Amino acid sequence: MTNENILIGKDTGELNGFAALGITGALLKATNAAGFTDPKPIQAQAIPPQLEGRDIFGIAQTGSGKTAAFALPILSKIIALGTKRRPKTARALILAPTRELAVQIEEMIKLLAKGAHVSTALVLGGVSRFSQVKKVAPGVDILIATPGRLTDLVREGDLMLADTKWLVLDEGDRMLDMGFINDVKRIAKATAPDRQTVLFSATMPAEIAELAKGLLKNPIRVEVAPHSTAAAEIVQGVVFARTKQKRQVLANMLADEAMKSVIIFSRTKHGADRVTKDLERDGFKAAVIHGNKSQNARQKALNDFREGSVRILVATDIAARGIDVPGISHVVNFDLPDEAESYVHRIGRTGRNGMDGIAITLCDPSENSKLRQVERIIRTKLPIVADHLGSPDPQRNPAEKNERSFEPANDRNDRNGRRDGRRPGGANNGFGKKRFGDKPAFAGERKPEGAKPFKGNNKRRFGGKRPAARAA
Ligand code: AMP
Repeated sequence: MTNENILIGKDTGELNGFAALGITGALLKATNAAGFTDPKPIQAQAIPPQLEGRDIFGIAQTGSGKTAAFALPILSKIIALGTKRRPKTARALILAPTRELAVQIEEMIKLLAKGAHVSTALVLGGVSRFSQVKKVAPGVDILIATPGRLTDLVREGDLMLADTKWLVLDEGDRMLDMGFINDVKRIAKATAPDRQTVLFSATMPAEIAELAKGLLKNPIRVEVAPHSTAAAEIVQGVVFARTKQKRQVLANMLADEAMKSVIIFSRTKHGADRVTKDLERDGFKAAVIHGNKSQNARQKALNDFREGSVRILVATDIAARGIDVPGISHVVNFDLPDEAESYVHRIGRTGRNGMDGIAITLCDPSENSKLRQVERIIRTKLPIVADHLGSPDPQRNPAEKNERSFEPANDRNDRNGRRDGRRPGGANNGFGKKRFGDKPAFAGERKPEGAKPFKGNNKRRFGGKRPAARAA
């Protein structure tokens, strides 16, 4: 292929920036076909050193383009080496903490490997083991796996990792949170000693730095977003509401037609089920995804949400990790996460690919300290979009009442650039002034009792201004 052919995109005559990073041939064509012509920053940083054989330590979140960043160099090398595989082996292994993320990674690899002869396989818990054993029996080029089931296959002798020369650990911090650390270490030890290793993590707790030290050889460090800082295009806000008020607040919000595609986070599986049931009782169709659901149920929920047949997905933190559904307009935190860093991951489901996103957090006074931790991490005070705590609850212990609950919203919001005169404590749907409408909230849905649809766009609800979502 001439240089010109390598550099020229499909039929458009546009230059493809991946060529300059060292990506060639079928892979370059596939990037064009996928519409990837400008490498994302993480790709620009990580691809050239990986092609040179360097280990990579990447700090990047889902949505940054990290999958293609680690997949393209591995695909390049595997294509260059031809199809030499021994039975029951994998030439490259990508470890992911959740089944959903693993499925997404395989989809991306298949997209990028279009036109090249590269085999992939998935090894995941929760689905038939037999078909996975059969798939890896002749040997596979790229295996994408969750650590538990992979350990099982290796232990039973259905898979050997001695030929695995490329190892990727994706979402290392979540792998740690989910208790996979020892599995990961054992798996890494079973791979080829001269392997190339890539570790991606959205955050960098001390244990990740420790893991990197043990697994990576003289790595190049790449980083796209400052540590634990939310993406810039997400408008964020907090609604103060007591736990028992949250159901109604949520129903009022969802009656707004502007909430086209919404992911609602719940801290616990039980909570996610309860929120989903309440939504259904309130006339909203919602899918739910959490760790107690079967793989098929999770995949169906995700597909329904992705295809738009349901516009509301209720999820727990772990189940939602890695979900990349384009066009999520709103994230609602029904409660605050236990770990403040999860907040960054939650809201990162929206505001992707340059599109606007809105993230609203419902906060009971008992969650104030968690809210403060979140604000510390994102280095921003969340503007109050509504405060339903106006009348003190006489049954509450006064010591529980945090002064912030009664802090004038305007004072706080002024600091964030909003001066729209909204008062705390009023009857307010969580986005500002109440407006009335009589159309059903969403095609095919019954208007929930007490739900008042709103007209107008989201920005108006924030006084036409976007509070600073990122401090750094
Ligand atoms: P990831 O962080 O790997 O989950 O990727 C996030 C999203 O970015 C995916 O939906 C990809 O399809 C998309 N993407 C990755 N690389 C590029 C690129 N260079 N140009 C445009 N979109 C991309």
